[in-house]
Amino acid sequence: MTIIIQGAMDCELDVLREHFAPAKTKTVAGYDFFISSYKGNDIILSKTDVGLINASAATVIGINEFSPALVINQGCAGGHIPEIKNGELVIGEKSVYINNFYTHPKGAGEGSDSLDWYPSKRSYAVPSTPEYVQLADGIAFDGKKRIGTLGSGDMFSQEVDRINYLHGLFGELCEDMESVAALKVCEAFGVDRLALRIISNNEITLQAFDYGVCKTLQKFVIALVDKIICV
Ligand code: SAH
Repeated sequence: MTIIIQGAMDCELDVLREHFAPAKTKTVAGYDFFISSYKGNDIILSKTDVGLINASAATVIGINEFSPALVINQGCAGGHIPEIKNGELVIGEKSVYINNFYTHPKGAGEGSDSLDWYPSKRSYAVPSTPEYVQLADGIAFDGKKRIGTLGSGDMFSQEVDRINYLHGLFGELCEDMESVAALKVCEAFGVDRLALRIISNNEITLQAFDYGVCKTLQKFVIALVDKIICV
C-alpha cells in the first residue's frame, strides 16, 4: 500500500527520513516528497511547510502524484487545556477549523475584540478515518495519550483568554496549523486519513516550545505504520 506521512517542518520528518531511508526525492511546485520502498510498501514522506495553505497544496499534490491509500498528518501542537503537557500525544478523532470567523460590525475608532467574534459556517470539523484512530490507539506510547479534537488554523495563539474562548467554542485539545487542511483535502478526494499531534508548548501553563518532542511522535508513527502494513 502507499502511505503519505506529512510533516510541516524538518524537525517533524528527521526520524522518519532516517528510518525509511528514502531513495528518491520529488519536488513538485516547491513541495518535497521523499520516496521509500518499505517492506513491499511505498512510504512517501511529504514536507508540507507550515500553515493551512501549504498543507492544502501539499496534500492535493501528494494525492495526485502518489494515489495514497492513507495520509497521516503529524506534528507538534500547542496545548489548549491546562492539564495537557509537552510530550503528550493527541490522536485526532477530528480536526476543526478554529480560524474562520465573522466579526460584528464596528466603526472607525471602535476597536476590535476577538472574544466577540463568532465562527462562520466554514469552522467545520473533519474526521480522521475511525479505523485508523482505533489502530493508533492500540499502539503503545510512553506517556499520556488522548483521543480528541485538534484545533487548526493560521494562528499561533498565546492569549489565554482567547485560547479558552476557542476551547469553549470548539472543544479542541490543542492548536496546530495544518491538520484540518490535510484532512479536508483527503475527505474531498475520498482518501483515508489520520491526524496526530504531540504537544510542544502550552501557552496556558507557559510550558516553553520543545521541538524535541517531534522525535517521540515520529517513533510512534513508525510503530503505527508497521502495524498498518501488517493488518
Ligand atoms: N519557526 C517556525 C515555528 C513554527 S511553530 C515558524 O515560524 O515557521 C508553528 C508550527 O508548529 C506549525 O507547523 C504548527 O502546526 C505547530 N504548532 C506548535 N505549537 C503551535 C501553537 N501553539 N499554535 C499553532 N501552531 C503550533
